Amino acid sequence: MDNLKYYWHKLKYNLSSLMHKLLAGRYGIDHFYRFLTSVIYFLLIIQIFFRPKYLYLFTTILLFYNMYRVFSKNHQARHKENQIYLKYQRKFKSWINLQKRKFEERKEYRFKVCPNCKQNLRIKNIKGKHTVSCPKCKKDFDVKI
Ligand SMILES: [Zn+2]
Repeated sequence: MDNLKYYWHKLKYNLSSLMHKLLAGRYGIDHFYRFLTSVIYFLLIIQIFFRPKYLYLFTTILLFYNMYRVFSKNHQARHKENQIYLKYQRKFKSWINLQKRKFEERKEYRFKVCPNCKQNLRIKNIKGKHTVSCPKCKKDFDVKI
């Protein structure tokens, strides 16, 4: 039993040192990797139910691209890709939050976009024509509720 334990620990140690050697100087895992992995899992689950012709190929390409990113030595390029991903993720999250807020406050407020600076404005839900002053760009515009 002790012998088995010894070999188990030795195997774990060897595997972890092998991983360290493999990943030395490599880019590794980031947010974009995690996102792509969930997309790959999602696509694999879809393929259980449907068998679209090119989805398998697309999933395989995505898988190899994800692995390529992990083992890449060009940290700068991978970091840039991750930053682009994070930028879109932030935009998507803030859009989701805005939709949630619009829904929660739909009775008291209306949400309009400033035609000048595209800022989202929350306006009290009072029927009629109003002149609204944008707090960001200070321009006035008419709103009909
Ligand atoms: Zn504005």
